[in-house]
Amino acid sequence: MIRLSPLASSSKGNVTVISAGGTHLLVDTGISAARIRKGLAECGLAVRDLSGVLFTHEHTDHTCGLGILSKKDELHIYCTRYLGQDLRGMAATSSRFTYIEPGSPLTIGAITVTPFTVSHDATDPVGYLFEYGGTKLGYITDTGRIMRGMDLLMKGVHGLYLESNYDEHMLHNSGRPMALIERIESNWGHLSNEQAGDFVRQIAHPGLQHIVLAHISQDCNTPEKAHSSMQQTLDELRIPTQLVCAPAAYRLPWIEITAN
Ligand SMILES: [Zn+2]
Ligand SMILES: [Zn+2]
Repeated sequence: MIRLSPLASSSKGNVTVISAGGTHLLVDTGISAARIRKGLAECGLAVRDLSGVLFTHEHTDHTCGLGILSKKDELHIYCTRYLGQDLRGMAATSSRFTYIEPGSPLTIGAITVTPFTVSHDATDPVGYLFEYGGTKLGYITDTGRIMRGMDLLMKGVHGLYLESNYDEHMLHNSGRPMALIERIESNWGHLSNEQAGDFVRQIAHPGLQHIVLAHISQDCNTPEKAHSSMQQTLDELRIPTQLVCAPAAYRLPWIEITAN
């Protein structure tokens, strides 16, 4: 069984706890260190219990808590090499770094982690596949498009944490500058509700137990819109997948994913 608990998810802050076989990992540190500690405590964990802190990319909504978080506790940071150059400037010097390579699986405690390249305007950004005892969890956020090969990698996942950032109509009527709208919907921006649905159509199977919709824009989307869009896709596919939205401002309790 793999458990995940998003502590926050939106364009303003992203952190997720992932646990399996007694190994606890954090993905990103994009909220204050105090909120991360509080969220971990709600999970029954402390920072010292973490075997690793994995990063997707350097944008503030994924990294802003790192400086303070790394001051009190020694962190073991996993990130791509070029991203590491940015993170070394943010993290306390006591932090340990392990560089990861997209496409190369590594083992952290009980969990096998495979990073893979995503398409985003950041330094060497990645998503992750987590595996433990035959259970698979895909983690895809901050990608402007679904890239070739992602469907193969995510084939057979039992859980999927997937960006569903914007509703196209709301984005175009958001009053945002055109350049920002273009950036969000470009290949290096974010996934729309529709793109998220298209991807689920590619990888859907009856064993896909849980989908967590993530990084839902607070200006150009609503949890209701993201949820109903994906639910429609799941209804068409006739698979009994549990669907939930990761809240922007508070922790989502543990979601348990098993291979059967
Ligand atoms: Zn982000
Ligand atoms: Zn980003």
